[in-house]
Amino acid sequence: VVSVAEGSPAWQAGIRAGDELLAVEGVAPRDVIDYRLLVDGEEPELLVRRAGATWSVALPKGAGEPVGLQVVSPVFDRVCTCDNHCAFCFIFQLPKGLRRSLYFRDDDYRLSFLYGNFTTLTRFTELDLERVLEQRLFPLYVSIHTTDPELRARMLRNPRGATSLRWLAALLEAGAEVHGQIVVCPGVNDGAALEATFADVLDRYPQLASLGCVPVGVSRFARPGELRPHTKQEAAAVVELVHEWQALCLRALGRRLVHASDEFYLLADVPFPPLEHYEGLPQHENGIGMARAFEASFEGHGGMVASARGGFFQAVDGAPAVGYRARRVSVPSADAGVPSRADRARGRGGRIGVLTGHYGARVLRPLLDRHGYLKRGVEVIAVENRFFGGNVAVAGLLVGADLAAAIATRPDVATWLLSDACLSEGRFLDGRELSTLGPRVQPVPAEGSALRATLDAALA
Ligand code: SF4
Repeated sequence: VVSVAEGSPAWQAGIRAGDELLAVEGVAPRDVIDYRLLVDGEEPELLVRRAGATWSVALPKGAGEPVGLQVVSPVFDRVCTCDNHCAFCFIFQLPKGLRRSLYFRDDDYRLSFLYGNFTTLTRFTELDLERVLEQRLFPLYVSIHTTDPELRARMLRNPRGATSLRWLAALLEAGAEVHGQIVVCPGVNDGAALEATFADVLDRYPQLASLGCVPVGVSRFARPGELRPHTKQEAAAVVELVHEWQALCLRALGRRLVHASDEFYLLADVPFPPLEHYEGLPQHENGIGMARAFEASFEGHGGMVASARGGFFQAVDGAPAVGYRARRVSVPSADAGVPSRADRARGRGGRIGVLTGHYGARVLRPLLDRHGYLKRGVEVIAVENRFFGGNVAVAGLLVGADLAAAIATRPDVATWLLSDACLSEGRFLDGRELSTLGPRVQPVPAEGSALRATLDAALA
């Protein structure tokens, strides 16, 4: 137990941070999912250990009421680790010396359910299928990559990759909601292979809730010769194919099903589709429809609420039981760093710099220009990602060292705004703390409405 809310049923029962929870209703929960289900009833009985002594206690609560305690991790037994060796795996392309949790490769359907992590299902079993269906642990997120068994085994570098999509069929047939993704690698699973995958999905997995195509990320630490980024023409071909299959799926299923990530549109220099084409943004956190959703939220019509599913960088640290997500900033930010009207009047206001990656800048600059912010002393600064290098240009992978270097070149900027998407518990991926960038850097929640409100407050 890492924390207990004062006055909660757990608090009243005498449970405190540091206690060990051994069983609930006589059962040792395997993970936070079991735990949640077990404590959901009326007056659940907990077996607790403190300093070697164990005792049972019934929690004074009604059915469905919260217990008021947080546990240390989402999985109490072992996380199912990944047994694939994909050449395109971004974890294999990380530099050495980062915090250990970033090198952790899971392939656990529970983390797919809890965090939106993608699983290849190569370690999925009959028992897992039974549990998913019995406890209704979905939506799940599955890495498909290709439906060609031989190619899939080759891409995952695992013979089980050839057969593990049988679990996808079983899940879908049983009515589970599953979203798929394809990491498109040029010359490997694009072109005819991608088209064959779309055709197979429509034929064999038409119940799939969505299928997102994302381009392979290639950092400067990738092994030479193994991977290369898409050219503009290759990205345009993917976008075109996705549009063709959207039209086909719309006719066959009444929905578009297949989507290309924002990165593909930016690489191809093709305008993003309208927001409604993203059909509820089921893969928003996978970078699919993020730009349109941000724009809508900035303009005050963010009616389509994006899903809050996260990627593995959020998942591996912290793992609080409530919300299942590490907070992006360790102390929720109010408006620290944004100069007050008095400060600005005294000349401290100065320029406002919005820090982002190269892709983010291509979305933000026209948006802020359209709404007159660029004329009012706001500037969008695209930060080069020297840390990862390669084709890494998304705001979520910006690191402290690169941001510090960009800030140092612009002493004329008085206030810096930075999307909190690149932070986990106030730290960047390179381990640097947000606070080391100085008091003038203000993290802003990665939503259009939050950026607009912060800009308006700073310019007021
Ligand atoms: S399945 Fe995912 S975590 Fe495992 S090697 Fe492939 S890309 Fe990496």
